[in-house]
Amino acid sequence: AKKHGKDRFEVFEPAMQEAFQAHIALEADLRRAVVRHEFELRYQPIVHLRTGEITGVEALIRWMHPERGIVPPMDFIPLAEETGMIVPIGEWVLREATTRVAEWNARRDGPPLTVSVNVSAVQLEQAALIQVVESALQAADMRPDRLVLELTESLLVDHRPATLERLGALKALGVRLAIDDFGTGYSSLAYLRRFPVDIIKIDKSFVDDVVDEPTAAALTHGIIQLGRALELSTIAEGIEHAGQLTSLAGGNCELGQGYYFAEPLTGAAISDLLFP
Ligand code: C2E
Ligand code: CA
Ligand code: CA
Ligand code: CA
Repeated sequence: AKKHGKDRFEVFEPAMQEAFQAHIALEADLRRAVVRHEFELRYQPIVHLRTGEITGVEALIRWMHPERGIVPPMDFIPLAEETGMIVPIGEWVLREATTRVAEWNARRDGPPLTVSVNVSAVQLEQAALIQVVESALQAADMRPDRLVLELTESLLVDHRPATLERLGALKALGVRLAIDDFGTGYSSLAYLRRFPVDIIKIDKSFVDDVVDEPTAAALTHGIIQLGRALELSTIAEGIEHAGQLTSLAGGNCELGQGYYFAEPLTGAAISDLLFP
């Protein structure tokens, strides 16, 4: 058995080294990407479920890698967080998203769109985040309540004492806060008491099974009712089929997003959609 273990170790070592080298290469690439601005935003429409009207968009980052093509956020956001590069990247996302959506709102006849931006825990650790948000709003000439900052539950789990204070300062600016992936963390309900949130985003895993699984349906509709009781907006994530829409709208879920309505779209595609 010992010999077997040794053999296995020898088999794994080159693989680990390869993974390590790939990690180092990716980090160097990402540093270059920050300097050369290799990122783009996609915008996924958020829709009022009863009327079908677009009420806002969620900004989702893409890395346009010169050799690898489009790199999805899951493949580089963790590294960006580890290395602190998420701070300049996140600042760019805030500026770009607010600028773009403010442009659309200026041209638009209908009610102004909201823009939702994902904010990572590392960004929230920076005291400067407040000024970054404030200056992005000013530069875009956007009303603060049109900006939604999406925070994941994991961010709220291992929160530092400064987190609550920082969220309070963001609220004082007038921006709105959403809990992303709601229901997937350990004590989702506790956060609703502790943090000044305005919006609950019901995780896709509930929405996936809302038609076929009575338990998922009961939980989803329970979350919607909880949201209503607390006077929070609810957004269902990852709606892919008409059946899910029927169930969610029937349960009085206010808003939703998902491939059923639209994938994350380029800014140009959103423009075409808004100004045909
Ligand atoms: P998220 O915030 O939960 O975003 C929703 C993800 O679900 C997006 O993946 C979106 O493209 C995808 N999605 C939307 N509708 C559907 C659907 O109907 N079906 C399916 N299968 N998927 C759907 P994406 O764009 O790959 O982003 C993944 C995650 O990366 C995001 O999850 C968010 O946590 C993170 N992320 C994206 N952009 C940023 C950013 O600018 N900053 C930070 N810190 N994180 C970001
Ligand atoms: Ca999100
Ligand atoms: Ca989510
Ligand atoms: Ca997620």
